[in-house]
Amino acid sequence: NSDLILYVNLELVNKKSDRRYIVEEMLGQGTFGQVAKCWDAETNSYVAVKVIKNQPAFYQQAIMEVSLLSMLNDKFDPDDQHHIVRMLDFFPWKNHLCITFEMLGHNLYELLKKNNLRGLQLQFVRTFSRQILDALIVMKGAGIIHCDLKPENILITPKVNSAAGVKVIDFGSACMEGKTIYSYIQSRYYRSPEVLLGYPYTTAIDMWSFGCIVAELYIGLPLFPGASEYDVLSRMIEIVGGQPPDDLLREAKNTRKFFKHVGSIYPGNEAHDGLCSSYRVLTEDEVEARDSKKPKIGKWYFPRGRLDRLIFAYPWKNLNEGNLPGLFSDAFIYY
Ligand code: ADP
Ligand code: MG
Repeated sequence: NSDLILYVNLELVNKKSDRRYIVEEMLGQGTFGQVAKCWDAETNSYVAVKVIKNQPAFYQQAIMEVSLLSMLNDKFDPDDQHHIVRMLDFFPWKNHLCITFEMLGHNLYELLKKNNLRGLQLQFVRTFSRQILDALIVMKGAGIIHCDLKPENILITPKVNSAAGVKVIDFGSACMEGKTIYSYIQSRYYRSPEVLLGYPYTTAIDMWSFGCIVAELYIGLPLFPGASEYDVLSRMIEIVGGQPPDDLLREAKNTRKFFKHVGSIYPGNEAHDGLCSSYRVLTEDEVEARDSKKPKIGKWYFPRGRLDRLIFAYPWKNLNEGNLPGLFSDAFIYY
């Protein structure tokens, strides 16, 4: 939106004082707006200002970002110990909602790119993973689902005593557990099986994304870089070594996008009331016929050797026992 770039290249004007935030450079651009590095003339420090696109839907969701993040900051992490970005202020500006944050460093995708996508040293993978998990534990305690955990939304913290650290940012897609409104959430590579399949979701979907991120930090490339949802799910099934259980597929809303009904497994069993359908994954041809657009099934293009050192035993069998992803974390902490 060139309109917005123009605004941002001028000065942000806060009501409190005429020229409080002076834009220095653009830090990033996402779905919701633009983020600028600004000099805060009132506190004499740098801050990151997120200027939300001036459309009602974005404004509403930004209000959600402000309220969930202030709750997390003030109530659940008052001493700033749990690797969640600090929100400093928010204000309306020419129909844009602006949110100011503490200034942080590069995001983890930028860091991986700088490293030529070869992956980080194990010690950094460990430290970052522990810190992201720490944030996820606090979020789970608060009943908040981030819904868009990915390397772009995890930022390096400025070096304090030269110890490397990260913080989770971007609560622009977050929601409260039990008040899940949207079904199309999470960035595709990090999208959990529940969300792909259209099954009720919880904070556990962030844990799935977390697992994908840890693998990516280590490998240097996304774990499930699917060109389509079908492609992502196929890759999951290949890596995990089996498809989700029929019980789950029977209940999920999107099963037929990915699977073909192949009959009843317990014919005549009254206890199951004739609902015991079983499924197989659609073939590529069937998917093509489904949306007459062939998904690009690429080759696995990460080095398998390194991958072997991670444990990818994903317990599909537990999914239908109310034990949704979450166990994925175990695989990474102890390897
Ligand atoms: P969106 O919701 O549009 O994705 P984000 O909050 O994720 O917006 O911000 C977009 C990008 O801007 C991030 O990926 C990051 O690179 C940069 N950014 C955001 N917040 C900060 C911050 N506090 N400090 C430094 N850079 C930031
Ligand atoms: Mg983002």
